[in-house]
Amino acid sequence: MDNKDLANLIFPDVKDYTYYEEKYKARNLPEGAIVTRFAPSPTGFVHIGGIYQSLIAKSMAKDDGIFFVRIEDTDQKREVEGGTKQILDALKDFDLSPDEYIDEDNVNHGEYGPYKQSLRKEIYQSYAKKLIEEGKAYPCFCTPEDLDKIRGDQEKAKERTGYFGKWTRCRNMPIDMAIDKIKNGDSYIVRFKSPGNPDKKIKHKDVIKGNVDFPENDQDIVIIKSDGLPTYHFAHAVDDHFMGTNLVIRGDEWLSSVPLHLQLFYVLGFKAPKYAHIGPMMKIDGEGKRKLSKRKDPESAVSYYKEEGIPKQSVLEYLMNIANSNFEIWRKQNPEKSMYEFPFDLKKMGVSGALFDMVKMLDVSKNVISRLSAEEVYNASLEWAKEYDEELAEILENKEYSLRVLGIERGNVKPRKDIAKWSDVKNIIYYMYPEKFDKNGEFEYQKVTDEDEITKIVKTYFEKYYNETDDKQIWFNKMKDLAEEFGYAREVKEYKANPDAYKGHVGDISTVIRVKLTGRCNTPDLYEIMKVLGKEELLKRV
Ligand code: GLU
Repeated sequence: MDNKDLANLIFPDVKDYTYYEEKYKARNLPEGAIVTRFAPSPTGFVHIGGIYQSLIAKSMAKDDGIFFVRIEDTDQKREVEGGTKQILDALKDFDLSPDEYIDEDNVNHGEYGPYKQSLRKEIYQSYAKKLIEEGKAYPCFCTPEDLDKIRGDQEKAKERTGYFGKWTRCRNMPIDMAIDKIKNGDSYIVRFKSPGNPDKKIKHKDVIKGNVDFPENDQDIVIIKSDGLPTYHFAHAVDDHFMGTNLVIRGDEWLSSVPLHLQLFYVLGFKAPKYAHIGPMMKIDGEGKRKLSKRKDPESAVSYYKEEGIPKQSVLEYLMNIANSNFEIWRKQNPEKSMYEFPFDLKKMGVSGALFDMVKMLDVSKNVISRLSAEEVYNASLEWAKEYDEELAEILENKEYSLRVLGIERGNVKPRKDIAKWSDVKNIIYYMYPEKFDKNGEFEYQKVTDEDEITKIVKTYFEKYYNETDDKQIWFNKMKDLAEEFGYAREVKEYKANPDAYKGHVGDISTVIRVKLTGRCNTPDLYEIMKVLGKEELLKRV
């Protein structure tokens, strides 16, 4: 009996690995094209970090490379019904649809599938079989109790823990004995026989982290579990080999596994990909920083952005900002270009995790929305409202009027920047709708609070000065005349130079008119607002 018999006993039906080598031909891509992937587990929760990673992956793959998605569902306890669809939908929502993937009906799109690990069992097993035949992997019969015992002994002896070196009880088991045990129905898993020597170092050049040295791996890790499925490590090597990945972009929790992974690639006879390990997204919490957490931070869920109505473009632009901080300047210089034209550079990413700050994201979003036309803002708000805010949807039914409202201070050099998300829109435009505006509401005035004075100012303005057809210059001059008539400076400058000579300045007067007409101290341009509201409505409000 030899290793071949052992391999045949363990994997009687799997095809020879050469079958798969033949089937999955090397990709025919232009020189230098990047093949990279996003490899999530379908756990029912899509983290914003997944969008971040995919955005980076897509920016690297560009048009001549490939960005694919592989569903990593070998830990079937963690799998959630519909998990694959959720991931694909989230990517689609952010315009990050992959070039190759498997859909929710298990239909593969691309030549290198199946793109779901649970459907690739035979592929992993073909290589596990090869390793057993070559004496580079072996069945291990240690029970959880045995492993506990080993660990206990290691701790007592103050040694590092794991299945390595002299602790590998099943590594040197005679083949006949292993065969007998298997025939006897003993349960087992398959372990990799590590050739590593931890006294030696391996050098790793990470695209993001730079040069890192590690001791060689000597752990005989599990490659095939008792359910016949592979562990992450083994699946990673086999899949990224067959799928032609040449750049692995993944979370830096895997950085310490690099020595093992490089060893696996080497022993399997595969060319190793380049690795780019990205730090986790961080958030300020009190004095310090911590990881953006699924449990504590609603903004860690991709669904949050849809519910809040934060446009995908805002999220993507913000993520690009934190990935490459020079993006912000580039964006200012190239406001009209697609973000994929930005020369994204993995090397410019921070070694530690990027700080994820919602306030900054909303600022970016205000800029993004300020560049949209009234029609675009209208369509997006309406679409959001239909799902999340009935009242807003109702308000927006009057399209022609709403376009005028949303068009205020839009499309000019200094466009309005008050909308960060579609859920802001209702509050921002509410007062512009006669059926919603409560003219008897309790308004807060700023400087001028005396009711008689307010009434007089408003009355005088509408009786003496207001004229619907005035252009902006005349409108403004009249506001100054009104100020003067009431003892307020025509210019802020004049007031500041001589504050005792006036009750206030023209801004205080226009605020009175503004609050009276809108209920707000802060609004976009009052002249434009008055134009849109129209004379009849204005007079009703006063
Ligand atoms: N399924 C692994 C994870 O979610 C993938 C890591 C990788 O990209 O290789 O962490």
